[in-house]
Amino acid sequence: MLNIVLFGPPGAGKGTQSQKLITHYNLVHLSTGDLLRAQIAQGTELGLTAKKLMDEGLLVPDEVVIGMIGSSLKTNPQAGGFIFDGFPRTVAQAESLDRLMAEHQTNISCMIALEVAEEELVTRLLERGKTSGRPDDQDETKIRRRVTVYNTETAQVAGYYAAQQKFHALNGIGPIDSIFTEICGLIDQHQAAAPENPAAATSEVKA
Ligand code: ADP
Repeated sequence: MLNIVLFGPPGAGKGTQSQKLITHYNLVHLSTGDLLRAQIAQGTELGLTAKKLMDEGLLVPDEVVIGMIGSSLKTNPQAGGFIFDGFPRTVAQAESLDRLMAEHQTNISCMIALEVAEEELVTRLLERGKTSGRPDDQDETKIRRRVTVYNTETAQVAGYYAAQQKFHALNGIGPIDSIFTEICGLIDQHQAAAPENPAAATSEVKA
């Protein structure tokens, strides 16, 4: 199974690249932001609570998003793999994801981080806000708060995956297709070197 964590600040392009990756690698896309917005659209109690936090650019509680990811994994037993987009956003979420993966007899293959500077993120999100209808995309103060939350609470998740030799970062500024090609290159490289891949052992002997 190929299980990718797509990482980066709000507006880095995770959603755009996820759409291309699910087709290319035949994966199921799990975006906690999308799952939360579906709850809001359905008017559930969870959605109502989450909306207040999301509109302010704050994180929703770990147990809420972990619960949603746990259910989504159960409802997709035939998946060849997953792209996690916008999750995990805290180290506690990353630890829970490892546990959930182990329960499903699999693991996270690698994390790909898209790096984009704050001013570019603000420009992109304000532009997206003109059509997305998302309250958190329409106000610069909220956008900057999301970036601050990313820097203070989420960025450290990179270290969690780096410690497992699963972290790869690339520049998220440039043509969408070039970034996609770079991401695929990193994933393919990682797959080829994976210990469970018999070809990896052979290539190591050759090298
Ligand atoms: P973006 O990456 O542009 O911020 P998302 O759709 O991923 O957009 O997230 C929107 C909002 O949903 C976040 O600002 C946060 O309030 C909430 N959210 C999404 N995923 C998580 C998560 N894993 N943990 C906590 N809150 C989350």
